[in-house]
Amino acid sequence: MSLSATDARMHTINNYINGEHISPVGGEYLDNIEPATGRVYSNLASSDHRDVQAAVAAAKQAFPAWSSMRASDRSALLLKLADLIDSNLEDLARAETIDQGKPLWLTGSLDIPRAATNFRFFASAILQNESSTHDTDGAFFNYTLRKPRGVAGLISPWNLPLYLFTWKIAPALATGNTVVGKPSELTPMTASMLCDLAAKAGLPPGVLNVVHGIGSKTGAAIITHPDIPAISFTGGTTTGKWIAEHAGPMFKRLSLELGGKNPNLIFDDCDLDAAVESTTRSSFLNQGEICLCGSRIYVQRRLFDEFLSRLIAKTKALKVGDPLDPSSNQGALVSAAHRDKVANAVEQARSLTGKVHCGGGIPASLPDRCKDGFFYEPTIITNLDPKCPFEQEEVFGPVVSVTPFDTEEEAIALANGTKYGLASIIWTRDLKRAHRVAAAIDSGVVWINCWMIRDLRTPFGGMKQSGVGREGGAEALRFFTESKNVCIAT
Ligand code: NAD
Repeated sequence: MSLSATDARMHTINNYINGEHISPVGGEYLDNIEPATGRVYSNLASSDHRDVQAAVAAAKQAFPAWSSMRASDRSALLLKLADLIDSNLEDLARAETIDQGKPLWLTGSLDIPRAATNFRFFASAILQNESSTHDTDGAFFNYTLRKPRGVAGLISPWNLPLYLFTWKIAPALATGNTVVGKPSELTPMTASMLCDLAAKAGLPPGVLNVVHGIGSKTGAAIITHPDIPAISFTGGTTTGKWIAEHAGPMFKRLSLELGGKNPNLIFDDCDLDAAVESTTRSSFLNQGEICLCGSRIYVQRRLFDEFLSRLIAKTKALKVGDPLDPSSNQGALVSAAHRDKVANAVEQARSLTGKVHCGGGIPASLPDRCKDGFFYEPTIITNLDPKCPFEQEEVFGPVVSVTPFDTEEEAIALANGTKYGLASIIWTRDLKRAHRVAAAIDSGVVWINCWMIRDLRTPFGGMKQSGVGREGGAEALRFFTESKNVCIAT
């Protein structure tokens, strides 16, 4: 299916079960809103447990043949799917931008290419996987088999829709599982388009099934389904807690990639130009709606004033506008509710001690098409208490705080002073300090003098309330397979 700007407005997104797009059993649909205009432009199935049951049945039926297919044959099908994503890049990028609100240049250069890379990466990884053997005292030989778990339940958020959905689908399918997936109800479009490409690539019916709907109904039915033994979830920490509470007693395998409140530590010996440039990106790329964005910026006191004034200047130069306009640096937030949440967080910070240096509201001038869209200015706040809600809770929008610190110890304590531990960023020219601080920060990912460099072989995930488990490379291959040790007397 291709999605032009015109037919997007008429489109109904149905579930994809056993190789077919089918209506939800209950016949209910949700509105799908274009964030840049605030207008309903399509609708999507509002599925319930009956739809999930049908998807699980199809996935179970497809599992024996898919899991016993030669790895090289599965790999070839997934590589073909990657090629199809590439050859449909323009349609997918435009659809993602209309659905999510982020700039078209970003979906075309990051989101959609990364979706293809996810399939290529895992299609090749399964051909190079090793398993361990142990010669036990010359009398016994142990070897490890790794088998796919069965039907994998994959649930993803709205901020990087196809990018994160395929980050789960690719390793699950590559290792021989079949899939029941649910994208966010706010951004269902490219997941639906992916199903058509999967069929075109030759994936057998039932291998990839996608059900649409809200988390508390469709998502919960996936989490609690007894025939889904493995759940990979990316989303908010509160949802993650609910999932852990319900899936834990069922002894499901769980991977939870959750929220963050990431610190940037800017030491006074850093390359200032590079630090300001990169911090502008790590604050506002994708409207700040990336779990890896740095939202708490700590600057060593000697550099504080200069860093702040340069960051403000760069931020004021960012253009918020129609995401389809190539000159827009920032598009719309994903929904009215999310835009209001971001605005309320800023108002609360302002009502405490916060000083807003730029942004802090809805942009005054937007093109006519976008006047009812969900836009918010890139915003910088100072003078906040580290314990206040703005500094402790994830806002997940284009808003950051900047705070001075004096010593390395103080910087580490500030960085570690929240319940989260997803990612952190360090800017310094002192190599020893860089390693020391990286080791001391409680976070699953640390970038030193860079940001968002993603080598897909590296483990990815959060500490503390940012998650449980790791994705990426060998970690994902392990998560989606069950190991079995076989011991034979020699
Ligand atoms: P969310 O938790 O509201 O929803 C995520 C997904 O879970 C959606 O598909 C939703 O429908 C579904 N869901 C909601 N309730 C559910 C339930 N009870 N059972 C099953 N599924 C349910 O999160 P969101 O608002 O879509 O996404 C933003 C959050 O995602 C932020 O907190 C962000 O930090 C986080 N995130 C984390 C990472 C990471 O890698 N750690 C990456 C991207 C986003």
